[in-house]
Amino acid sequence: MVSRVLLLATKDTIAYAHRDGRPVVLSGADLLALLPQEQLVADVTVEDVTAEPSWDMSPATMLALARRVRSAILDEGFDGVVVTHGTDTIEETAFLTDLLAGPAASRGGIVFTGAMRRPDELSPDGPRNLASAIAAATDPRLRQMGTVVCVNDELHASRWVTKVDATGVAAFSSAPFPAIGRVVAGRVETLGTAPPRPPEPLGEPESDVALIKTYPGIDATLLTAVVDAGARGVVLEGTGMANVPVSLFTAISDLTEWGIPVVIASRCRTRDVPLQEVRSGTDGLAAGVGAIGAGGLAAAKARIALMVALGAGDAEGARQWFSKL
Ligand code: ASP
Repeated sequence: MVSRVLLLATKDTIAYAHRDGRPVVLSGADLLALLPQEQLVADVTVEDVTAEPSWDMSPATMLALARRVRSAILDEGFDGVVVTHGTDTIEETAFLTDLLAGPAASRGGIVFTGAMRRPDELSPDGPRNLASAIAAATDPRLRQMGTVVCVNDELHASRWVTKVDATGVAAFSSAPFPAIGRVVAGRVETLGTAPPRPPEPLGEPESDVALIKTYPGIDATLLTAVVDAGARGVVLEGTGMANVPVSLFTAISDLTEWGIPVVIASRCRTRDVPLQEVRSGTDGLAAGVGAIGAGGLAAAKARIALMVALGAGDAEGARQWFSKL
């Protein structure tokens, strides 16, 4: 039986082209028409989604996409969903979709893709990425992998992948983890083990979570300023083993007491960094004033995770949910 795939087309570089010297935005159907029909291995239903460019995509749009993916698989029985998305924040929306997918992750393939080159540039990567993404979404092995990003013939776990190059087609990396698969001649080859499944989301995610990059000499009022502006949670990007300046400790302690969870990630690409562990005198001290370790998640992913964690309803629930991630 031919697999049924839903294509959610959110435009962006994969769809921005010129016709007769004028800029046009290709629809999902236009994108499919660029593929050699014999390579279309599924019965594809298209939904065009009105979305901001991904570098400006609102949490509301990200959440709407994540929910649409879940319902397409659980309620409408699609075998897989492919989302075309701008590459700047594809990793955030893909990870949010993964965290909210629940049982959909084991019933269908969920694949995000995009392009570094527009369709009218020399050697565009979008059509190939789209064909590979559709092929991957129909592969039963994807059902063990959670949400993946398919670019440049590679499959990356949404939890690990990061855009690391602003212009090249090899723009994504999961380092220090491997890509978990690749697509060769329209077939999926698995290369590594996918990350463990996240805990089930507990409630409606919170959309107002701030992310602050720290640096030696940072003024602690930056933390209280984002909370005054409405943030319900704060992610700090620290250095090395997720260290932040001691000048922030009082603010971290205050925010934690006020029920605003503070998560600390590292600016380094890293595997799990246990914040609680005191390694060399002062490292990891922020845990002592209430901070939550991001557990190896990059700061942008920790922000997405904290949005979902806050669905638990309170700071303690968010901490517990985060600890199972
Ligand atoms: N500017 C685009 C974005 O917002 C880049 C892309 O579409 O890939 O992500």
